[in-house]
Amino acid sequence: MAVIGIDLGTTNSLACVWLEGKTVLIPNRLGQFLTPSAVSVEEDGSICVGAVARERLVSHPEASAASFKRFMGTDHVFELAGQNFTPQELSSFVLRQLKADAEYFLGEEVTEAVISVPAYFNDNQRYATKQAGALAGIRVERLINEPSAAALAASRISREEEGSYLVFDFGGGTLDVSIVDFFDNVIEIRAVSGDNHLGGDDFDEVIARRFCEVNDMDYEGLASQEQASLLRAAEKCKRELTMQKQAELVFGEEKKTLALTGIDLAELCGDIFGRIGEVVKRVLQDSESSMEDINEVVLVGGSSRMPVVAFWLQAFLEKAPCVIGPPDEVVAMGAGLYAGIKERKEEIKDLVLTDICPFTLGTSVVNYMDTSRPIMSPVIERNSVLPNARTGFYTNAFDGQNHISVGVYQGESYYCDENIKLGDIEMDILPCRKGEAGFHICFTYDINGILEVEVTDLQQKKKYQQVFTTGSFRMSGEEMERRVRELQAYKLMPQGGIRTKLLLARGERLFTQFTGEKRRIVSEIMREIQAQAAGKDERQMTESLRKAEALFDELEQMER
Ligand code: AMP
Repeated sequence: MAVIGIDLGTTNSLACVWLEGKTVLIPNRLGQFLTPSAVSVEEDGSICVGAVARERLVSHPEASAASFKRFMGTDHVFELAGQNFTPQELSSFVLRQLKADAEYFLGEEVTEAVISVPAYFNDNQRYATKQAGALAGIRVERLINEPSAAALAASRISREEEGSYLVFDFGGGTLDVSIVDFFDNVIEIRAVSGDNHLGGDDFDEVIARRFCEVNDMDYEGLASQEQASLLRAAEKCKRELTMQKQAELVFGEEKKTLALTGIDLAELCGDIFGRIGEVVKRVLQDSESSMEDINEVVLVGGSSRMPVVAFWLQAFLEKAPCVIGPPDEVVAMGAGLYAGIKERKEEIKDLVLTDICPFTLGTSVVNYMDTSRPIMSPVIERNSVLPNARTGFYTNAFDGQNHISVGVYQGESYYCDENIKLGDIEMDILPCRKGEAGFHICFTYDINGILEVEVTDLQQKKKYQQVFTTGSFRMSGEEMERRVRELQAYKLMPQGGIRTKLLLARGERLFTQFTGEKRRIVSEIMREIQAQAAGKDERQMTESLRKAEALFDELEQMER
């Protein structure tokens, strides 16, 4: 029985395991490490996950879904082929597929997983992630923050020496920077700082806006579909600048152009770098470190591949950053390593990870100047070590008050309405004069980042415990068992002949996208694959799949 680590991503998911003294990424049945986080209901009612499902997003949009991680912990419902699924149910299919692939790869049953989650995930989102595990039949005792997983992998992989690390994790839409110490077998996440709205997408937008400026177009005035296509072209141009010194963005019927060099991009993105600088300064300040204390700067996340980012960081920190492995794989490696620690695998059984709460948790107190805008009173401050329990003392705010609503918030702003609301505890109190009724409010934050709040009314000696019930997706044990049974009735698509299935799905997508001559060619290739699949000649089949792939690649290339 094995425990695996899973990076359950918005776009792609990966699984990793600690095997014979090292982290090993688990390939899916196509031989790839990245499994697209996409789900589709097939015509026969079975569920397909991954690359085939991603193709079906275009050819069968009514039966397919992706990017459901964005909705974890909300009441959002996805309708696929007339059936309703919650985001955690769709995630559970992805987890089931990863589990099945891992079992095939390892030759043993996978019973448990450590799943990574973004540091900014709130209570509802964490609860939903654990629920996805339970729905997939996997025990999830431990969630690990993505920056902590990256830091854990970095501290082991970059060099097995002790020291302090600055881990720079720059993705499509988020930036997380952590300071990690590795001494005496203890990996200690000292501070995490981030910006949840800063990532590769911002570079795409800067390039797209520049394109409009140069070509006398109004970026804001573009139809949403046109804007989306321009952003896609801008992203492609950005990626080309990772490989070469200059690139050209060509867009629209009139084939308008923008030529760009790495230096141009650096100049255009001054604001983005200013914001990155703020995050880096804050994390150094929160951890009370200076760059002299840092042994290594480690780059993680897709956007860290950009040379302008590495150059800028080097100039800003006066230290050359290093890359420890493909940026997409590092978080999964950290989760896999943690799975090994959890199993107390020999080489790492003495390693200890201490994590922190990356944001402040607090309660609302009355704002006498404007009662409609309560003020945040921090109970557990950001960067406190986990697990953590803190109690604050509060009193009633008005004479004769007979009801109190204790708001629970996450965030760093002074006013509660600028932070994320996690829930309320409602309680009736005995009316008395202002300041005479006292309450203890105790926040307990466990190693998975799951919060429990207990309020004690000292006058009435009554306790109110909050199991947050916001979001109807929270289920009782019985409801959960019923839903697990219902979901088990959905079979995962068999993985035999997966390459053929993927090619056929890709063909269907291209057929939907193209018209005319190209469509006719796609149709012909599809018929050839189907004819071969019906035959028995393995060698011929492999050869015709290879040919079909090349032809599809060529057709798609022409489209760009
Ligand atoms: P992640 O969330 O870590 O998967 O990162 C996704 C982001 O990385 C997107 O904004 C991508 O455009 C960006 N990205 C991925 N590969 C590259 C590359 N080779 N060059 C520049 N940006 C990249």
